[in-house]
Amino acid sequence: MGELPFVGSVYEKRLAIIGIEKIVDLLYHIPHRYLDFSKSLKITQTNIGDVVTLKGELISLKNHYTRIGRKFQIGEVKDASGIISVVWFNQPFLVRNLFPGEYLSLSGKIDWFGRKKALISPEYEKVSTDGKCIHTGGFVPVYPETYGISSKWLRNRIKSAYDLLSGEIKDTFPEILLSKNNLYSLPDAIRAVHFPKSLTEAERGKKRLAFDELLFLQIQNIQRKLSWNKYNIPYKLLSQPKIIKSFVTSLPFVLTPSQQKAITEITDDMLKPCPMNRLLEGDVGSGKTVVATVAAFLCFANGYQTIIMAPTQILAQQHFDTLNMLLQPYKVRISLVTSGSTKYEIGRSDIFIGTHALLYKKVNLEKVALAIIDEQHRFGVEQRANLIKRSDNKLIAPHVLTMTATPIPRTVALTFYGDLDLSTLTESPSGRKKTQTWIVPPQKRDGAYSWIRKNIINNNEQAFVICPLIEESSVESLKSVRAASNEYIFLKKEFKNIKVGLLHGKLNASEKNNVLGKFKKGKINILVATPVVEVGIDVPNATIIIIEAAERYGLAQLHQLRGRVGRGNKKSYCLLFAETKSAKVISRLNAMQESISGFELAELDLKLRGPGEIFGLKQHGFPDLKIATWQDISLIKKSKEVANEIIDSHNKYKYFLNHFNKTQLVSN
Ligand code: ADP
Ligand code: MG
Repeated sequence: MGELPFVGSVYEKRLAIIGIEKIVDLLYHIPHRYLDFSKSLKITQTNIGDVVTLKGELISLKNHYTRIGRKFQIGEVKDASGIISVVWFNQPFLVRNLFPGEYLSLSGKIDWFGRKKALISPEYEKVSTDGKCIHTGGFVPVYPETYGISSKWLRNRIKSAYDLLSGEIKDTFPEILLSKNNLYSLPDAIRAVHFPKSLTEAERGKKRLAFDELLFLQIQNIQRKLSWNKYNIPYKLLSQPKIIKSFVTSLPFVLTPSQQKAITEITDDMLKPCPMNRLLEGDVGSGKTVVATVAAFLCFANGYQTIIMAPTQILAQQHFDTLNMLLQPYKVRISLVTSGSTKYEIGRSDIFIGTHALLYKKVNLEKVALAIIDEQHRFGVEQRANLIKRSDNKLIAPHVLTMTATPIPRTVALTFYGDLDLSTLTESPSGRKKTQTWIVPPQKRDGAYSWIRKNIINNNEQAFVICPLIEESSVESLKSVRAASNEYIFLKKEFKNIKVGLLHGKLNASEKNNVLGKFKKGKINILVATPVVEVGIDVPNATIIIIEAAERYGLAQLHQLRGRVGRGNKKSYCLLFAETKSAKVISRLNAMQESISGFELAELDLKLRGPGEIFGLKQHGFPDLKIATWQDISLIKKSKEVANEIIDSHNKYKYFLNHFNKTQLVSN
């Protein structure tokens, strides 16, 4: 027998699917709603439409069969006031469980059955000697279920687990903080969640458990931040104001206010004696690269090296081109590290650019004072860990700047990235026109193609065609490549006399560069690409993007893709090809037509698709919250405040800190 004494092996497997492996997990399996059976009446007091709880003696129960083979069960229940019929459908086994003479509690709706008033399909249970009911009366929990595991089954097991463990629930959370924050104690919370006397009570119980979940993350964040702050930087940098100013004025454009602010925050950090650990968050096209370039330039001006890690070789190449262009007047030596380059060839450089896998293998990090991580999945957690080195018993880390275009709502950033300092680019560079977005149903596809053809021929426009997302994965599958290749062949026929190119992850680096180079130079007008390749590509002349099977994407992903256009001064267009009639999907795609801000879309995605799908964050390695929700901003804030208070007075709260973990229950 495993960790769940009253559960057989078949059920054990099923429970594992919903994350229940130990007895305590049952107590942390939180209802997502409650049935309100709190109205308790005598039989004769009931009216049609009432949802009620009745108690009485079963006086008869029989199976009936209709002519078309359906089964239903009709019984009669009697209390001091009278008798009522009770009807169930398709539960023939009931006659073997419930017997006349037994005293039952029943909760359900009063309705007509034929011409008679009856209690229809009620929840039922025999009233035990202690009179306590768990399936009927009061507020009955409905749990997240899975195949073969019903709420009713769970209620019974959770009750047993509770009877077994309730005496052992220990709350290590300091009492003084409980009352100050108006929170239930842990034993009260667990009881209230599973056996609430009122919905308010259930709510407060859940709030305490959600608070614990958030507090755990917040404390972890603060501790991570504190230990990062203990690291030493390898080299001390000086501010070099003159040369930085001359570089900024030499740029081909004026920086936006939030670019300027981010640059100040970053360069301030870089002068401090402990390593920077900052997240630069900015919508697609908001101009993060130039901000990073200023940071790299400051490092260069001090005589030290920078490494820049990109998620793909294409993006590394693009950064290489951009930085070469921007830094060319200053004789900065920049190396592009590719799978072909050797340590020897890379030689002495000021800036190394490559994918993270390559950089670690080939670059001597000795003189590196700054590491920039661009558009990484998992937001650079692993990369940061790789940068920490031990030397003379001291832990050394360079300044680290992580960049992301994934719009993380503030509440999420506060919870998961509390250990990073945050700079946000809030506006896009001026002169940009809003990208016009259209949903294109199948019958308008031909029309859309002629419109594109006209635009390409008359105005020499360029278009991306993004092929359907086949699997959610950061590595490209053969299937996706095949889909893109087929689309390419199809479009070459459709757009005769127009240059069509193909870009996917299975091309080798030089083929990719070749295609992308041609597209950038305008020698290709239509670029067919798989969804994985796109992130971060900057081709300011491209003004049209077609997204095939748009219904398969979340809003954040669509927004990322759309961000490939609208990067220059020309009006841009995004065509969402969708083959769906689902109102839900259409309303999601409509949001794309209406909103152009990544942050707005992220908040909306959170509402529309729910926490399971948070704006594509799942692919970025975000853990999901189990009990708390992202919408609960005040609880998130409170958990952060309390976490700070606890760490600030860590001596006072030593016992709690030593015993604190995700589930505080001690079970043996
Ligand atoms: P992202 O934030 O998505 O990485 P990029 O750094 O690639 O965006 O910048 C997008 C485009 O905007 C580039 O072509 C860049 O040269 C341009 N750009 C950046 N900052 C400005 C600015 N302040 N004014 C005008 N154009 C800018
Ligand atoms: Mg970028």
